[in-house]
Order: sequence, then C-alpha cells, then structure tokens
Amino acid sequence: MSIRYVSTRGQAPELNFEDVLLAGLASDGGLYVPTELPTFSHEQLVAMQGMSYPDLAYEIVSPFVGDCIDEADLRAILNETYAEFRHPAVAPLIQLDHNQWVLELFQGPTLAFKDFALQLLGRLLDHVLARRGEKVVIMGATSGDTGSAAIEGCRRCENIDIFILHPHERVSEVQRRQMTTVIAPNIHNLAIQGNFDDCQAMVKASFVAEPFLPGGRRLVAVNSINWARIMAQIVYYFYSALALGRLDAPTSFSVPTGNFGDIFAGYLAKKMGLPVEKLVIATNKNDVLHRVLTEGVYSRLSLEPTLSPSMDITVSSNFERLLFDLAGRDGDELSRWMATFAEGGLALSTEALEQTKTMFDSHRCSDDETCEEIAQVWSSNGYLIDPHTAIGTKAARVCHGDSQAAMVTLATAHPAKFPAAIEASGIGVEAQLPRHLADLFERQEAFDVLPNDLAEVQTFMAENCRA
Ligand SMILES: *Cc1c(COP(=O)(O)O)cnc(C)c1O
Repeated sequence: MSIRYVSTRGQAPELNFEDVLLAGLASDGGLYVPTELPTFSHEQLVAMQGMSYPDLAYEIVSPFVGDCIDEADLRAILNETYAEFRHPAVAPLIQLDHNQWVLELFQGPTLAFKDFALQLLGRLLDHVLARRGEKVVIMGATSGDTGSAAIEGCRRCENIDIFILHPHERVSEVQRRQMTTVIAPNIHNLAIQGNFDDCQAMVKASFVAEPFLPGGRRLVAVNSINWARIMAQIVYYFYSALALGRLDAPTSFSVPTGNFGDIFAGYLAKKMGLPVEKLVIATNKNDVLHRVLTEGVYSRLSLEPTLSPSMDITVSSNFERLLFDLAGRDGDELSRWMATFAEGGLALSTEALEQTKTMFDSHRCSDDETCEEIAQVWSSNGYLIDPHTAIGTKAARVCHGDSQAAMVTLATAHPAKFPAAIEASGIGVEAQLPRHLADLFERQEAFDVLPNDLAEVQTFMAENCRA
C-alpha cells in the first residue's frame, strides 16, 4: 500500500509521503491528508497487543510512509526516536479512578507530547535529505513547547539548520532555557524584539518570500500542519487502548487541544479500526472548538491569555482536516467553507453538526476550574498534573457521564513546565524537573537578540546556516 496525499482545498498537486514531509502547507493554502487509511481488524489488533512502542509504531506508521523509506531503516528510526524517552514504556498509563486513566505523554526530552512527533520528524527529514543529497532550513515561531521540541528533534540532524524565533523576554524561563541551552552548530535561537504574533508573521512572510537562503535551500515548516506530526500521534491512541486490553469494548479519550492536531489523530485512529467511543475536546477560555459543538458555528474571537498557554489560540488550524471530511472530501466545497470562516464565521449544516457530535464531545474550563482540578487530583491521588492535563481530566469526568467505557486523558505536559499554575492551585508543593533537566538553570545559554525586522532576520539566517 502506498498512500498518496491530497490538499483539503483540492488545487495543489497530489504528493507521496516524502514530498508531504518536505511540503508542510499545500500550495493552495490547504492541508495535506491521506487519500485512504490503513485499517486494522479485531484479529490484527489482538495480534498487536503486547508490542513495544516502537514495534507498534512501525505497524501504524509504515502504510503511511509506503515505499519512501525501507523497512529496516524505518524500524531503526523508530527505535532511535522512542529510545529518547525516559520511561521504558514510552507512554505509561496511570489509573486515577475506576474507569479513569491518564496517559503520560511527557516522558520525552522536552516534557511535552510534541516530542512524540518532532523527535520522529527530525529523523525522517534527515534520512530523506541524506538520500537526496539536499540540505534544508527549518524556521518556526514559538511561544513555548513547539520550539524546544523542534530543536531537540533536530539537534543531531546533519542536513537541517533550524531557526526558532521567540519573543524576547516574553517566554517563561523554563521554556526559554529548554531552547537556548541546546548548543549545536545547526541550532539557532532568535530572540525577537517583539511579541509572538510578530515572530509568527515573520515566519509566514518568509515562506512566501523570494528565496533568501544560499544555494536555493528549501524552507521547511514543523508546525502542526505537517502531516507527519499527525501521523506520529495516531500511535499512542492504539498503544493505550491495547495496553488497557479492552478491545471488546470501546475506549474514550479526553484531549486537551488547541489546534485540533492531537485529537484529529484520535479521530483517524477510530477510522482505522480502533474501537473508540467518544473523543472529548478539552479547551480553556479560548473555546473556538467548544463553540463549534455547542453552537454549531466555527468562528474566531480575540485571544485570552490563560494558565494553559499552549492552548491559547484563536484558530484551530487542523480543524480544516475534519471539515474536509464533513464536506464529503470535496476541495471546492471546503474552500468555500474556509472563505465563509474568514469572513466572520462558518455555520455547520445540521447534518455536519450531528455527524460531529456522534464522535466528539467538548468541555471548557476557566483558570479557576483548572486550578481546582489540579488541587482535586492532588488530594485524591497524590498525583501532580499540569494545567493542560487538568483541563483534560476535568472534561473527562464531566463528559463521561455513566458510560462504562475506559476513559483515557492525554497528559500533554509535565507539571514542572508550568510552575505558575501549580502555585496558583494553592496545594503548596512544587513540581521538580526530572533528573535530565535538574541543572537547567545552571546551563550555558546561546541566543541572538534581533530587531523585529524581516530583512534583518532573513539576512541573519542566510549568513548563519552551515555550508
Ligand atoms: C501544543 C500543546 C497542546 C495543544 O495541542 P494541539 O495539537 O495544538 O491541539 C496541549 N497541551 C500542551 C502541553 C501542548 O504543548
């Protein structure tokens, strides 16, 4: 099976896996999605029970990769990727209550679930670039978790230089140090004298600008629109349901989500044959997705800063991938929907809304509720959760009702990454950084402060990528 990829807007060329990996956004402004999905029968799922994380990842991921990477190489890449995780199970499950579990997705090098995809993405890119004899430049903007995960994922890549822009003096010290203490000749941290939106705007402008890199080098995006990231995230839905051993009854998942990337991977897992009852969209005050389910309208409001900053978004870019299915996979129809959204708001048809509600449920938490939930889980389980995970466990309980299904909340970050929320919850304990980061505050940092000026940033990049 060699899966091809099409753009949600129907105007860009159909690509294979390798080209999708390098493309990021499609040339028509859409997002790439597979033309077909591999499916797994009950017997196949039973046979996969007990597989190690990298072996299971091979089963799930290889049909999407097709013949772009041969079996031995792909297995080696997956083994190496998941050997970076601290816990031998890679994604361990913790039981909180009868029928309530937490899936710890923060055992990777940067303590957030983004490591699952970005550790893999860096290695996949480096592998195909070596074969093609090409070098690329990754450029990204970050307000926190994505930047450090992307930097860690690329630190040993021979064929990639990475430039991550963060707003100077406006990211937390833990998050900044996780980026700036990775010292390698291909890692470039740019502290921009502006805010996150300024950083983001410069990245967007660079992707449509005249080529400015030496030797016609390609610019690659690693934000969650990159298909390979979604693909990597499908694996842990299978892994956790198989570990619970409940293949005769469906499992539900509660997913703290902003960009709809992580939960879209759960939707695909269901379509691939995993018995899934409900996918719970857990959001903070930036509730664009919750409003879709409760009001039937997809529309943006202004940004509200919260204690769960990794979900502070106004547009859920990956929601377009679900809308494409709701539009009957018709690129022209989807393009009209996205134009309506851009003009103010998209009202879903009754049919599309009903279809969405059969698969998804949603809940929104305020900062106060988030803090209460951290305190509640601490007092009943002695288990410390980060604010994003807290929104997930709260939504899990609210939406589970009297269902008999196992409910798994995705724990998207380690609590030590978000000390402000832990302190605000008033429990009087501090989350400790894991051993590999215990000396983070003593480590040497390297970053360049640059003005909020596109030309200067591009000149800096051109002069500083490796030969
Ligand atoms: C990125 C992130 C999220 C949101 O993930 P999406 O894929 O954008 O939905 C949630 N929690 C944490 C800790 C994150 O870093």
